[in-house]
Parts: sequence; structure tokens; C-alpha cells
Amino acid sequence: DREKIIMTGVLSLKAKKIRDVMTNLIDVFMLEANRIVDDELVLNVHGYGYSRIPVYEGRRDNIIGLVNIRDFALLDTESGKFTVRNIMNFYKHRYGTAITPDDSSYDVFNLFKKEQYHLGVVVEYDNSSEKDPKAKAVGIVTLEDIIEEMIQEEIIDE
Ligand code: ADP
Repeated sequence: DREKIIMTGVLSLKAKKIRDVMTNLIDVFMLEANRIVDDELVLNVHGYGYSRIPVYEGRRDNIIGLVNIRDFALLDTESGKFTVRNIMNFYKHRYGTAITPDDSSYDVFNLFKKEQYHLGVVVEYDNSSEKDPKAKAVGIVTLEDIIEEMIQEEIIDE
């Protein structure tokens, strides 16, 4: 029955790695930090409809922050004064960083609970360059991805 399915899901979460539940970077809708917020951008944001949108600078694997779809409400797009970075710095939404594909989904679930995160950026460290290994984003994981794994079926979004 359903309870059994959920319990199995919770138990299997310990074994499940982030790589099994994350959304790959290629599939992530993001915005570039220096982009001017105009009507076209706001339409695009609403077209995708994601609540949270990572912000990158230069390269897509260089994620520096997050904006929320709601941040774009009541914003004056006519002036052409605001960049995505301005919005990001104004709201400063918190999110998980330094999560790696090999992390246990269960540990990340507990981190999200503790810190009240809804989204984390999954990174890999490039060890090829001698010193200062740089973190490169490889995907994102949301609370929904983890909960979905727990109940082992698609959550129907209303
Ligand atoms: P939302 O609240 O926007 O519906 P959820 O957190 O419920 O997003 O996640 C639903 C699915 O969409 C998850 O698989 C998650 O990884 C993915 N997702 C969330 N935000 C984005 C985004 N900006 N681009 C691509 N996929 C995303």
C-alpha cells in the first residue's frame, strides 16, 4: 500500500545519490547576470514558469545566485535600468551550494530542512588546474526532486 511505498522511498533515499535526482545543467532555465530586465525577458520567465531561476555570469556553469519568478512582479521594465544582477542582489534568496553529485539525497534533504533551502546548485570540482580547484555547476536539485524520490511517483503540479 501507499505507506509502504513511502517508507521504501525514505529508506532508499539514503542510498540514492544527488546525481540520480538532479536536473542536468543543460536542462536548466537560467538568466545571465548582466542581462537587462525588459518585457521580452519577463515574458520568457513567465513562459517557462519555474519558481526559481539560477543566475550565471559569463558561462552557464558559473552560477552566482538565484532569482524568483515573483521578483519580476511590479517591476518597471520600461526604464531599462535594471539588470538581473540588480534583482538578485536586492532579494538575495538563499540556496544550497557546494552540493556534489555523489552526495546522498538524504543528507541534502536534511540540509534543505535545516537551512530552509528549496534549491541547491550541484557542482563538480575541476582538479585539472593545479591550485584553487574551481567549482563548476553541473545541475540543480530542488526539494521537489528529493520528495518525489521519497514517494516514488511523479507529483502532479496543480
Ligand atoms: P517549480 O516550483 O518551479 O515548479 P520545483 O522545485 O517544484 O519547481 O521543481 C520541479 C522540477 O523542475 C524539478 O525537477 C526541478 O529540478 C526542476 N526545475 C526547477 N527549477 C528549474 C529551472 N529554473 N530550470 C529547469 N528545471 C527546473
